[in-house]
Amino acid sequence: MTQTSGDRPVLVLNAGSSSLKYQLVVPESGEVRAGGVVERIGESGSDIADHSAALTAMTDRLRADGVDLDDVALRAVGHRVVHGGPDFSEPVVIDDAVLDRIRQLSALAPLHNPAAVIGIEAARQHYHVPHVAVFDTAWFSALPAEASTYAVPRDLATKHSIRRYGFHGTSHQFVAQATADLLGRPLGELRQVILHLGNGCSASAVRGGRAVETSMGLTPLQGLVMGTRSGDVDPGLHAYLAREAGMSLDEIDTLLNKKSGVLGLSGVNDFRELVQRVDAGDVDARLAFDVFVHRLKHYVGAYLAILGGADVLAFTAGIGQHSARVRAAVAEGLGELGIAVDAARNEDGGSHARVISPDGSRVVVAVVPTNEELAIARQSADLVG
Ligand code: ADP
Repeated sequence: MTQTSGDRPVLVLNAGSSSLKYQLVVPESGEVRAGGVVERIGESGSDIADHSAALTAMTDRLRADGVDLDDVALRAVGHRVVHGGPDFSEPVVIDDAVLDRIRQLSALAPLHNPAAVIGIEAARQHYHVPHVAVFDTAWFSALPAEASTYAVPRDLATKHSIRRYGFHGTSHQFVAQATADLLGRPLGELRQVILHLGNGCSASAVRGGRAVETSMGLTPLQGLVMGTRSGDVDPGLHAYLAREAGMSLDEIDTLLNKKSGVLGLSGVNDFRELVQRVDAGDVDARLAFDVFVHRLKHYVGAYLAILGGADVLAFTAGIGQHSARVRAAVAEGLGELGIAVDAARNEDGGSHARVISPDGSRVVVAVVPTNEELAIARQSADLVG
């Protein structure tokens, strides 16, 4: 059987420090041929020593699922890379120079880029097809200067590439388009507020298909309250903790990235577990939920002001797609701003894109599933032809 490019899948890889998520996707149809995750890479007692071993394990699992990577006429491998720094505003075919640059950008994303580099190196040895890097920051590289600039001295910012980069860009871009498709309106006409609420959480304001604000910053720590990340704190907290608690900068960084957020407030980071504890009357869980929602409202209000009003408020990712309670709590009391949800529509647990506001609402509130793997597969295929 001859295969047209329309049949040929892209292998999408998302390498974390101890995990490798993979999906084999046909970009045109969106068909997912296979997918999964190899976990516990390099951990003691694990069979998977490193990322190369993880790719071998992935290849074996795919074969067990009836997919032989040697036979599928792989078109490209698309890699999710968290930080593209000031260099990458679009997806790029990976060569040695690109890989070196991604490695250098580890200074800006020490928790993320090193794993991507190791994953790319291993995958280039395993699969002799074009490899593409798709950056989480790319879509936000066009933020207006007044949104991307921190009020710190210009020369220092230039020297050290300090700006708001924003993250989850692949998801926000995908959801912006998918929301326009759901409404049957041109992307160019819409003012959108998008809330990506997963383990990491971020908000964006999008005007006419272009991002004009986002809540994450130089690093993915800024903005909303997340599973283990604090989001916004007073920048003075660092100096205060160093002086008063004797903590080092690395300790403070770990505290705010890994031990804070919903976990730091309640003791659990999984949102489903948090909601169970709220229902059981746990006061710490209640406060964590309220802080999470309060911060969301703060950003929704800010982005309505930035956009001069919105046509759409879209919820996506694990919490955004599945927690009717969070969506209802965010919308509560915002009727004056044109935002409301219809209880029955909100609680219809479907997994499809759908409108949850009452008919005739000034702002359409919608649940719009994200699909970062498909977006990466499409961007990779577009680039390699
Ligand atoms: P990631 O950012 O790792 O891609 P997801 O987008 O899958 O994560 O989101 C994970 C979060 O979504 C977790 O906090 C999980 O508890 C939450 N979540 C998933 N399903 C539900 C649900 N039915 N109700 C509330 N939260 C949920």
